[in-house]
Amino acid sequence: MMIPLVNTWVAAQPERIVKMAAKWSGSKPTDCQVCGGTLGSVFYDAAMKIGQWALMCNSCFKQYGTGLGTGRGQKYNTKTLEKVAG
Ligand SMILES: [Zn+2]
Repeated sequence: MMIPLVNTWVAAQPERIVKMAAKWSGSKPTDCQVCGGTLGSVFYDAAMKIGQWALMCNSCFKQYGTGLGTGRGQKYNTKTLEKVAG
């Protein structure tokens, strides 16, 4: 008779949350592409309400941005270029 595999070992891979170090990969931005002003301590790579993407400062993001998240916008620290939200 067949011996059922009662002790099937399921290779329990610990669920890993792969956290990629999300960082701005381009050259360091300095100016807001919307108002032309200097970016503050943070900048946004975000979709505008008209559908176009732009690097923008905090106030332009508030005025023209559609929010943070995939497909909407990312927030970066201007100094470290690390993603802080989105
Ligand atoms: Zn701006």
